[in-house]
Amino acid sequence: MTGLGRSIRQILIALFYYSGFIGIFGMIYRNISRKPCVLVYHSVSDSENDGRPICISKKMFKKHMFYLKKKFRIISMSDYLKGLSAGRGFFRNSILITIDDGYDDTYRNAFKILKSLELPFTLFLTVNNVTGQKGSLSWDKVRKMVAAGVIIGGHGIAHVDLTSLDEKRMLEEIKGAKQRIEDKTGKTIEAFAFPYSRETERERKALRDCGYFASFTSRPCVFPDNNDIYSISRTVIRDIPVYELAYLLSGIPDLIRGFKEKNAI
Ligand SMILES: [Zn+2]
Repeated sequence: MTGLGRSIRQILIALFYYSGFIGIFGMIYRNISRKPCVLVYHSVSDSENDGRPICISKKMFKKHMFYLKKKFRIISMSDYLKGLSAGRGFFRNSILITIDDGYDDTYRNAFKILKSLELPFTLFLTVNNVTGQKGSLSWDKVRKMVAAGVIIGGHGIAHVDLTSLDEKRMLEEIKGAKQRIEDKTGKTIEAFAFPYSRETERERKALRDCGYFASFTSRPCVFPDNNDIYSISRTVIRDIPVYELAYLLSGIPDLIRGFKEKNAI
């Protein structure tokens, strides 16, 4: 899409949002589809122009959370995993919030905001990111989050593409992450998120064998069917205005994508 095309798209989305259309459409879509939705954030930075593509400013993150709290039922990972076997009605208008990697600002910014709003979230932690050095998470900070109810999931030890590793190294990443985080937090680690969303049946089977209950990847679909609980789709959220977040969560992008796929030759 050209720069002009993008601007026109933005203006149209904003118009539909402020006219109330996106809100009403989304409410109807979510109540009918009853599909679960999982969001993934990464770094929540102090500055507004951080420049990193996976980053959102804490100011915008706060706006997102206020919007989500107002419009959705925010569920915890435990509820989400229980819901997978409880049937679709469970997920009506529900969102699971996840944050990946374990940046220092997860503790400093995201945790602070989510805690003040009493919103549950899951942190998929890369073990080697917990160094305790300045600008990094420490196990003390991780334990403080756990004590406040944050659920920790595995995200590997060294944040590598598991599909590029031999069997032994791949197992070390999966098993090692679970053991290390469990040792440090005293909590059972039930979920895993694939670094770079890279996975094959080999990794999914390894996770099952190592005692994880579910694993997460990311795909463009916002409200996926999730037939395989070892490949649950998440939507990556970047530094976008609230009206764009509302548009994503209205179901309209999924419907447009589905229509295009159906009509593709
Ligand atoms: Zn990651």
